[in-house]
Order: sequence, then structure tokens, then C-alpha cells
Amino acid sequence: MMTNSSVRCASPLHHQSLPSRFALAFFNRSLLTKSVFFGATPSPRLVSVRSQTPGSDHGSGSQRSVGFSESTPSAGIANSSSVIDFLTLCRRLKTTKRKGWVNHGIRGAESIADHMYRMAIMALIAADLPGLNRERCIKIALVHDIAEAIVGDITPSDGVPKEEKSRREQAALNEMCEILGGGMRAEEIKELWAEYENNSSLEANLVKDFDKVEMILQALEYEMEHGKVLDEFFISTAGKFQTQIGKSWAAEIILRRKSLSAQRLRR
Ligand code: ZN
Repeated sequence: MMTNSSVRCASPLHHQSLPSRFALAFFNRSLLTKSVFFGATPSPRLVSVRSQTPGSDHGSGSQRSVGFSESTPSAGIANSSSVIDFLTLCRRLKTTKRKGWVNHGIRGAESIADHMYRMAIMALIAADLPGLNRERCIKIALVHDIAEAIVGDITPSDGVPKEEKSRREQAALNEMCEILGGGMRAEEIKELWAEYENNSSLEANLVKDFDKVEMILQALEYEMEHGKVLDEFFISTAGKFQTQIGKSWAAEIILRRKSLSAQRLRR
């Protein structure tokens, strides 16, 4: 979820070149996705297009099966086929460039996954705070924009109301979790995503700050690399940081930007 409406992700739905092995499955799932978006009840038949290999379903020998018996791993942990389907869908996060940069003519702009990865690193290196679960922050950072693998680019210029955008993203998340096969991991992803969406915890507050910090740091880097002026990203985030860590890191980025700007003026 982008906090700055000007940085969005290019639509991933129409330019993916998926391996043929998965093409049919995703073709069918794209139909399922559409049916979810348009409110129809998804057909289980569409979801069932998977390469099931007898004996390989459980493939979770190295995974913990907390709360579920070994005889029913599918209740808690997705089988290998579902996992690979889910991961193949997640590839779109790697290949979909963030549209805000594309709109500013940035060549080789970062992807959604690039953005989420550096946010996860931020959570990894952040100081410990009383009552803060940093591991949860890392998890939230890794999933907070995951629905964009399906919904792609929804910007204000698209004229989609905020509630409708949120509904589509929730539907996309549900779809992805269905592809994963449900279970405890899927439920965890849903909880993490909702926590971020609702800004309902200290962890979500911090990750929302990281979302903005990551964006303005990237904006500064593109300004330096491409000679652009990307004021709008700094203006749109000014005064919106919720945590001391976010405020402090943002201040450092802004200080560096001012310093670079002053250097340019002296030349
Ligand atoms: Zn984000």
C-alpha cells in the first residue's frame, strides 16, 4: 500500500510472461480474480488447476507444523504445489515497476519487491523500542504491498474511490491466500496486511513510516542519479511520520538532500 498516491505500481496483469507450465493455471486464476472483483462466487474448479504429484503434496518436512498434527499438514501448511503457485504469482512483485518513478521518466525504476525488501531491512536494523516486535515489523514490511501483485496500478487518476481500492486489494489478498491454499500461513499474511492497512499497532505505525522513508530515500537517490527534481515525494510525506525512528531517519534524508542542493548551488 502506497502512502503517496503518486507512487504506484504499473499494472502487472497484461505484460507477464509466465512459464508455460503455469500459464494455464494463471489464465484460469485470472478468471477467478476477475470473478472475485466482480462479486461472483469463485468456482472451485478454477482453483483446482494445479500439477498435483502424488506423494509430493506435503513437502513440508523441514517446516514446523505448529498446532497441527503431521497427519494433517494441509490444515496448517500449504502443499508444495500451492506454494510454488503462490511464489510464481509473487514474481509480479519483482517485475512490476513502481509507477511514480516510471511517470517521472526514471529508467530501470525499482519494483514493488525492491521497495518492500528495503523496508524489511529497515525493520531489521531499527533500534529496539519498548513494546515493539521488530520481527513482526519485518513481516509486515514484506507483505504490506503484496496485493499489488494482482491489483497493480490503482491511482487517483483512475478515479477509483478509496473504499473501492481497498476492497479490490482485500479481494486480491484473499485470492492470493486462496492460491496459497489457506491455512495458518495465509491467515498470518491476512492479519499482517490488515494490521498495516488499519495502522492498528505500534509495528504498523513504524512500518508505515518506513514506507515513506523508503520512498523519500529512493527519491533522493533518483534525484542524484538522474538529475531530477522530485519535490512532490518530500512534500507529500512532510509532517506525516508517526514514530521517532521515522522522524529521525526522514530528517537525515532531508538534511542530506539540502546539503546536496547547497553544493549544487555553489558550483
Ligand atoms: Zn509500500
